[in-house]
Amino acid sequence: MLRKPLPLRTVWVMDLPEQLHSKCVYIAGEGEYLWYAAMCCPCGCGATLHMSLMPEGSPRWHLTEGLDGTISLHPSVWRTVDCRSHFFLQKGLIHWCSNN
Ligand SMILES: [Zn+2]
Repeated sequence: MLRKPLPLRTVWVMDLPEQLHSKCVYIAGEGEYLWYAAMCCPCGCGATLHMSLMPEGSPRWHLTEGLDGTISLHPSVWRTVDCRSHFFLQKGLIHWCSNN
């Protein structure tokens, strides 16, 4: 039986810690200004993923925060190099896309 995965914990920071925890997703920003989201690549390859949340950035992601404090990112995160992980982050949970 599959164990229900725990959602990633959302950590709001102004500066990223040197070592990211693999069970956390970090949101960097100041006040209402969100700069980027960062997390360890969920495939376990050890890469750090950065997703820009700034309106003028390209590509950029939309972040929504759930009532339970988990976050969702839109669109999906797709690494085009190395491990080529492609997944959605929804309510803190990783949903793998099957085309990788
Ligand atoms: Zn990876």
